[in-house]
Amino acid sequence: MIASQVHRKLYGETVAEAESRQPKNLNMPVAQFVETIKGKTVREVTSKGKWMFLKLEPSLFLLINLGMYGELLYYVNRQKLPERYQFKLKFSDGSGFTIFFSWFGYVHLVAEKDLKKHRLTANLGANPLSSDFCFERLEDLLSSKKKTRIRKFLLDQKSISGIGNVYVQDILFQSRLHSNREISTLPQKEKQDINNAIRDVLNLSIQHGGLAYEKDFYGQKGKFDRTKFLVGYKEGRSCPVCGTIIKKIKAGSTSSYICPSCQR
Ligand SMILES: [Zn+2]
Repeated sequence: MIASQVHRKLYGETVAEAESRQPKNLNMPVAQFVETIKGKTVREVTSKGKWMFLKLEPSLFLLINLGMYGELLYYVNRQKLPERYQFKLKFSDGSGFTIFFSWFGYVHLVAEKDLKKHRLTANLGANPLSSDFCFERLEDLLSSKKKTRIRKFLLDQKSISGIGNVYVQDILFQSRLHSNREISTLPQKEKQDINNAIRDVLNLSIQHGGLAYEKDFYGQKGKFDRTKFLVGYKEGRSCPVCGTIIKKIKAGSTSSYICPSCQR
């Protein structure tokens, strides 16, 4: 889900109708949901982890989580809609979007004053690409987790949200850090390297339209695939920096991919 794309397209649109074919995705009865969202205008669209936040004026938020896999697709007036969808929103100009959940997802409406009480999003960590995220913030987060290994920290959605297994491999590689390094052993310079690497890797994915197995707002598949990775999922291949063979190592319940020479 690329929030900036949704923001650019929907900013200023006013909701005319909502439809839910799977009421369990909602956090209130369908009729109440439809009544509450009608007439509201879309303002900022942002994201944190798997959640997209659409601010609706006045004083409401629409929160969307596509779950394991889902499609959030824009349509223009009179365009043929996808056959499968569980949720649809229509704006006053006839355009709108549909949501298809392959498994299960959420479409919640929350009053602005209750946003901090929304159980599923209240404890999400900072979005490292948001304008209020900075190096000092990352330093504070790292200082509070000194005994934690760096990979585990980066994947913990309560500290920083939005870094998954696909991204963490190259963030560590770019920072020249072994996945098992304990945070307490990191000098200042390496903390700065992590900060830069997080932004570089996540931004690169956005530049390529997101992950290859996800669709964007216009139904285009992302182009951020294995060919763009540096060491992630490349065991047996050569390190792009030093040529050493990339290794796959066990890290918790998943795997980590590292260059044993570059990452210490
Ligand atoms: Zn290397």
